[in-house]
Amino acid sequence: MKYRTEPNLLFEVRKYGRFDTNACYQCGSCTLSCNLIQDSISLPRKIIRYVILGLRDLSNNSIEPWICHDCGDCSITCPRQADPRESMATLRRYLSSQYDWTGLASKINSSKAWYMGSIIFVFLLVPLLVVFYHLYISEMEYSDFITMPMGLEHMFGLIQDFTLVVILIPFIFLLSNAFRMYWFAMHKGNKIKIPFFLYVTEARAYITHSVTHKWFEKCPEKIRWPKHWLLAFGCVLMLFILVFFLSWFQTDNIYPIYHPQRWLGYLATIFLVYGSLDILIGRIRKNKEIYKFSEFGDYAFPTLLLLTAVSGIAVHIFRYMGLELTTHFTYAIHIAITVPLLIIEIPFGKMSHMIYRPLAIYFLSVEEKALQMQTNKEPVLENV
Ligand code: SF4
Ligand code: SF4
Repeated sequence: MKYRTEPNLLFEVRKYGRFDTNACYQCGSCTLSCNLIQDSISLPRKIIRYVILGLRDLSNNSIEPWICHDCGDCSITCPRQADPRESMATLRRYLSSQYDWTGLASKINSSKAWYMGSIIFVFLLVPLLVVFYHLYISEMEYSDFITMPMGLEHMFGLIQDFTLVVILIPFIFLLSNAFRMYWFAMHKGNKIKIPFFLYVTEARAYITHSVTHKWFEKCPEKIRWPKHWLLAFGCVLMLFILVFFLSWFQTDNIYPIYHPQRWLGYLATIFLVYGSLDILIGRIRKNKEIYKFSEFGDYAFPTLLLLTAVSGIAVHIFRYMGLELTTHFTYAIHIAITVPLLIIEIPFGKMSHMIYRPLAIYFLSVEEKALQMQTNKEPVLENV
């Protein structure tokens, strides 16, 4: 198979973050230090070489940056401070933008102004939609709107449908991008024939890694696995509540402490606050290899998570205190913060790795099983 080279690829990848290839003298220490290398996966240097050689197709078809769990061991080991861990993070942003057909992932991952601008745009759009709905669709008087008591059920008549749409839209984008990831990695980039049934039998790898994140166990810092799991669990619980139990939260009722509305909400909030604060403090202090260098999105995602949780706590407290109007406006702010988190971060930003990483492990598992089967027969690899 012939591959076209594009000398500009290296400069294009560098738009997505740090990608220091000048310092590297190919000693291989980074690869030796990585606990995630396997027979068919070479981290972190293989895809870095593809990019240096301008091999766009091979780079786009690679799943290695998603297999990388960002432990930072390779950067600690590197005698030239080339920071291969950060190169992997940059490549994840680059690959996300290659999968995304809208072009928005490319814009926000390569431009701080676009990232910030899109979050602010959605943040302002939500209250405008609320006002527009009340004043022009439900034709409520401005004075009534402003003084409406305990507005959670009344503030936005379509809030249930609105929330479901706001969750559905990013997942439609993310799933279409995940299909493009499959197309790059398994269709365009595959060198072996894969029987369809392997996609079914190996689906357990996708489910297992989505649920357990168990390859974090291979990171030398053992606490990373439970920390990452708890934050992810908090995010999934929040989405679960929004999709299935919004009516419990979209109410002025104060439920008794034993009601699931109370403890599910508290649980999600504790995990979100702890996880996001832990990341932000680490990034500010730069006290670990994984936090030594941060891009805008590395701050934006945990900040949005933290603000979502804190504004949710504020709504709960004000509602408890019976401060009707304050609850009303705090809730508007809570929604205005949550919607950019859902609309921007899930399909285009850092949160998209919740789909791409387990998908990469699943593809790896499918490929390895197909390879095993063909090794037991005859031709293994087609001409590469
Ligand atoms: S350890 Fe550093 S210098 Fe050696 S190959 Fe890896 S990135 Fe290059
Ligand atoms: S950051 Fe960790 S998992 Fe990723 S390539 Fe480096 S050593 Fe491997």
